[in-house]
Amino acid sequence: MFTVSQDQKYSAKPRVVIIGGGFGGLALAKALRKAPVDVLLLDKHNYHTFQPLLYQVAIGAIAADSIAFPIRRIFTEYENLSFNMAEVENINPENNTVSTSIGEICYDYLVIATGSNTNFFGNKEIAHFAMPMKNIPEALNIRSLVLQNLETALITADTREKFALMTYVVVGGGPTGVELSGALAEMRHIILEKDYHGLSKYDLRIYLVEGKDRLLAAMSQKASAKAKKCLTDGSVIIYNNAHVSSYDGFYLTIDNGKTVKTRNVLWAAGVKGEAPDGLPAAFITKGNRLQVDEINRVKGYTNIFAIGDVAAMITPETPNGHPGVAPAAIQQGAHLAKNLVHLIRDEPTEPFKYIDKCSLAAIGRNQAVADLGKIHLSGFIGWLLWGLVHLMSLAGFTNKGIVFFSWAINYLNKNSDNRLVVRYFDTDTRMTEVKPK
Ligand SMILES: Cc1cc2nc3c(=O)[nH]c(=O)nc-3n(C[C@H](O)[C@H](O)[C@H](O)COP(=O)(O)OP(=O)(O)OC[C@H]3O[C@@H](n4cnc5c(N)ncnc54)[C@H](O)[C@@H]3O)c2cc1C
Repeated sequence: MFTVSQDQKYSAKPRVVIIGGGFGGLALAKALRKAPVDVLLLDKHNYHTFQPLLYQVAIGAIAADSIAFPIRRIFTEYENLSFNMAEVENINPENNTVSTSIGEICYDYLVIATGSNTNFFGNKEIAHFAMPMKNIPEALNIRSLVLQNLETALITADTREKFALMTYVVVGGGPTGVELSGALAEMRHIILEKDYHGLSKYDLRIYLVEGKDRLLAAMSQKASAKAKKCLTDGSVIIYNNAHVSSYDGFYLTIDNGKTVKTRNVLWAAGVKGEAPDGLPAAFITKGNRLQVDEINRVKGYTNIFAIGDVAAMITPETPNGHPGVAPAAIQQGAHLAKNLVHLIRDEPTEPFKYIDKCSLAAIGRNQAVADLGKIHLSGFIGWLLWGLVHLMSLAGFTNKGIVFFSWAINYLNKNSDNRLVVRYFDTDTRMTEVKPK
């Protein structure tokens, strides 16, 4: 276990402590490989999660392990980096330490790269009954719930309950909600009747509820229109300008006057920054993010930085900060590495500029939308591009291979071998159990 006194015996080089081995934290750690610093990377998990493919785990298209990669394996060859699996509980700026699940750790420079968590906008009932999808265990919970509910639908004599078990409401029409709805529509059309003899696809309904007037609001109008058409063609019922008001585990009410009976509410309606405690509330801005300056330095501090989803760089060009996407976190991480070296060498720093190379969303088999500046792609070409970009971005050669072969086999078989209930999801306690009831 680290303690402050043990820590002081380390090298004379400045120590950069990075909290979070997500997209931002990893990019920063990699870019500091040759820098004159010692890096200590902390994460509560010993693996990195490739969140863009969580929805494929949730619908059983690919195996959970194929989107996770051990952090230690990434840094085997790095001489100036060490990693500890530890949860940071508190930041103590007054003595340059962090309190963690493995003890106190001191830093010269601290980088908070802790990402975000699901935002239920303060509604406790919805938070209890709806299913979030922010990490692998949550994606596996969805997989179990969906599959368990289909099994129950097959044997239930109560028609109302059967419909509720076969009704899905996806809340949030951003890329995650669109991708999840598209994947469910694919399951409805291609898999349901093949694998669940006795269930009819006409009994399975999918709703997508979005607060804005269009889906994929951060993408082009063309991408939004195409996504809407593909999903509607796939029998997804879309409500725009609509917000979920309540959900008690059976009745879901929407502020457009509709009530839906459902046992499956999948929540993709937003995230909020997730920083450890210890920094003054005055520096936390909208979306629970830490307000940072143009070099990602947390307002009010000289040696504490924040990158990625947890950071809000509010400037006249970016009044809402940068989008909560992997490329923004990666670019901020890589850029901060340069600025940390500048600061150590007492050189002028360079402000961060985000470059939005492309935005993508898959909508189902052979369908995706892609915005590359002024170029808009969709259909099969968009889908190939989406697959290529995601495959190349996955950490680890083995994972790339596993995901590629899973996709190829699923495509040819029009089915998947990953629809497994290995952890039973208890709908009463909202917990998972390894043994079924
Ligand atoms: C379902 C889903 C789909 C997405 N799809 C896309 C997509 O298609 N394209 C895209 O660009 N973006 C997508 N995103 C967004 C993208 O994943 C995030 O913007 C990105 O992960 C942010 O990177 P980050 O480094 O800030 O945080 P993260 O990648 O979330 O990493 C944060 C890390 O910090 C660790 N951590 C958190 N708190 C602590 C603590 N107290 N102590 C120790 N460790 C801690 C976590 O374990 C985690 O490893 C998606 C997100 C989700 C949830």
